[in-house]
Amino acid sequence: MVVIGKEIKASLPAEVLSLVRAAGKLAAEREQKLYLVGGVVRDIFLKRRNLDLDLVLEGDAPSLARELAKTKDGKVVTHDRFGTATFRKNEISIDIVTARSETYSRPGALPTVKPGMIGNDLFRRDFTINAMAASLEPARFGKLIDPYGGKDDLDRRLIRILHKDSFRDDPTRIWRAIRYEQRLDFKLEQETERLLRHDVAMIGKVSGDRLRHELERILEEDKPEKMLRRAAELGVLQQLLQSLEGNGWLARRFQEARKIDVTDKTKSAIYLALLAWRLNSENMEALIERLRFGSEASRVLRDIPEVKQTLPALTVGRIKPGAICRLLEPHRQQTIVAASLAADSALVRRRLKRYLADLRFVSPRLSGEDLKSMGVAQGKKLGALLKLLKEAKLDGMVKTREQEKKLVRKWLREGKV
Ligand code: ATP
Repeated sequence: MVVIGKEIKASLPAEVLSLVRAAGKLAAEREQKLYLVGGVVRDIFLKRRNLDLDLVLEGDAPSLARELAKTKDGKVVTHDRFGTATFRKNEISIDIVTARSETYSRPGALPTVKPGMIGNDLFRRDFTINAMAASLEPARFGKLIDPYGGKDDLDRRLIRILHKDSFRDDPTRIWRAIRYEQRLDFKLEQETERLLRHDVAMIGKVSGDRLRHELERILEEDKPEKMLRRAAELGVLQQLLQSLEGNGWLARRFQEARKIDVTDKTKSAIYLALLAWRLNSENMEALIERLRFGSEASRVLRDIPEVKQTLPALTVGRIKPGAICRLLEPHRQQTIVAASLAADSALVRRRLKRYLADLRFVSPRLSGEDLKSMGVAQGKKLGALLKLLKEAKLDGMVKTREQEKKLVRKWLREGKV
């Protein structure tokens, strides 16, 4: 019997541990079994930080979660119909779900779900390393349930499915296999790899929403280029769109992208733009449609072919800063960032970076209010004048407020806008 009580205690922060133990005690009082399962058990063995806690109860999880929230002064959100609950206290969030068994009516379909025991619950999981549970029962705290040899596979650094139909049941597991293999520097177990290659076309049966979700999770990883390269090698990336490539070109751009100081969300958007960078408009539309991207991501993606068309104008020998702004201002910032990493010409990349770091922040000294007090009505004309003023300032034509005013008066006289 393997017991990992000590390891659990050593890896969870004290407050989390105390909550988990309290939940185990409450469950025992109800004569129900509660387990820590999935990724967190895997990561306890691997000594990787993971505070994404999943608990499985052989019993009604929402009811236990409510009691835990009451006794431990936390908050709870329950989905009684699904037998799931999320307990929250301070920054801590713990998912508690009713143990369940799942069956698949056809490949790629969502499963039919019934309450079950921990054994059923582990059987529905993706890989042996994710199909381990540790008891939270006070008398058996940390007792490992490992029916598929997950611990051995962790030691051998292997990603292995639980049964031969696994990828057919749920082809999103193909993407998940690649994600774990590359994140953990593991290998696909030989038979798992054979079945993955065999079932790769099943990805075609998966809904766009689920596929997009898997891709988004990859783009949230520390080094998504590793997964995309492997996905290309296994023919998985091409299942999203034949013309997508995950080669060294992409890896170098991703590495560069990581040096930019942006939020995680923006970084993922830039990765996506880089992945799609070499698609033409027609393929871009196919990708947007296949993965059902939302409006914001679609805008960035649709902007790529347009930005690519403007890039040749940035290769000319001399170009004024105002002209650079005029060319780039209509485009999405994330697309321009992607362009600043992906453009072939070093000169263009430099100009794009200058725009991003500097030029786009320049504004004229006169404000909209100033123009109004000069008799310009609110509206398009006012916006156009501000833009022209900005360009004039960038190009060094005006420096002071007075010079700007003079220029505006001249433009108004000449009917420039
Ligand atoms: P991560 O470390 O990326 O957060 P995780 O292991 O916590 O990953 P989740 O996607 O949050 O994974 O899923 C939680 C658990 O649910 C997994 O450990 C796995 O056992 C199971 N699981 C998730 N998706 C699937 C799937 N498509 N098929 C089977 N089991 C799955």
